[in-house]
Amino acid sequence: MDSADSLADGVRAGRRAAVSRAITLMESSHPDHRSEARVLLAALEAPAQPAVRVGISGLPGVGKSTFIETLGRQLTTAGHRVGVLAVDPSSQRTGGSVLGDKTRMPRLATDPDAYIRASPSAGTLGGVARATSQAILVLEAAAYDVVLVETVGVGQSETTVAGMVDTFLFLTLARTGDQLQGIKRGILELADVIAVNKADGDRRTEAQAAARELSGALRLVHGREAAPAVVTCSGLSGDGVDAVWAEVLDHRSRLGVDGLAGKRSHQRLEFAWALVRDELEQRLRRSEPVRRVRAQVREQVLRGELPAVAAADRILAAYDGDPDDDTGEPVN
Ligand code: GDP
Repeated sequence: MDSADSLADGVRAGRRAAVSRAITLMESSHPDHRSEARVLLAALEAPAQPAVRVGISGLPGVGKSTFIETLGRQLTTAGHRVGVLAVDPSSQRTGGSVLGDKTRMPRLATDPDAYIRASPSAGTLGGVARATSQAILVLEAAAYDVVLVETVGVGQSETTVAGMVDTFLFLTLARTGDQLQGIKRGILELADVIAVNKADGDRRTEAQAAARELSGALRLVHGREAAPAVVTCSGLSGDGVDAVWAEVLDHRSRLGVDGLAGKRSHQRLEFAWALVRDELEQRLRRSEPVRRVRAQVREQVLRGELPAVAAADRILAAYDGDPDDDTGEPVN
């Protein structure tokens, strides 16, 4: 591994190999690498103009990779440098990376002004989030002025991604089932811009109707001013992709310079606490004294001999190394 200084030089010069090595360093959970990563980050400078950070989410099959490929190409053609990162906690289970895979975006992957990075395939969501948030800083220091963070529309990963971007774009399809699911899971609450994708061929009219319906529903819920913009597009044909991007930039510019800075400051603070919670949970899992009481506590709770509150107290006492951890409370 290069020294942090020469790696920082390589990143600043925008050299791909250096960017890749730096991000690999950010992904490592090894304590030595973690401290090297901190040294490297300290040596990197934030860009003069904050990069545009956009989260892109949607269920598998909604057309994320096709959309990102088209959008990415439009942006690099317009002179931007585009970084694509992925947050995909499901890849832990399958052992492979589903998102951000280069083969999913073949043209963008060979574009000299684009950098695509697959989701790290190991670790907790917190670990993946830590790597991703630091990778954003690496890309920005390497003069990528647009960073797209892709995530699959399942579970906790959207909230995590929404906490590291300026604008959150949600891709959906005209089928009402998908929209309702989105609303139910609260993902639409996070969305700043919604695009009904695959608005092409026979589906065009259906998509436009779905967008109007969704827009109306969201205005009822959020009020006209606060409701996210709803547009249609086709990532495949490219129709409307520029309009989606215009809405993204519009949302971001409505935040204003101070608003954006404030949002990022709060995100940093939130993220610091999220990392602490993640780390504490890992320590709890690894704790030897907790392991020792776990089986007994489990049996007693399942048999109805130990109330939940007392069980929690006993586990915490074991974790804190309190020898007097028998609360001996009766069952309620
Ligand atoms: P992802 O899983 O969300 O990344 O979705 P993909 O981009 O891999 O697309 C899933 C499928 O939908 C593929 O067969 C694509 O060719 C198709 N697809 C993607 N975008 C569009 C679109 O805008 N219009 C149409 N008709 N099909 C699309």
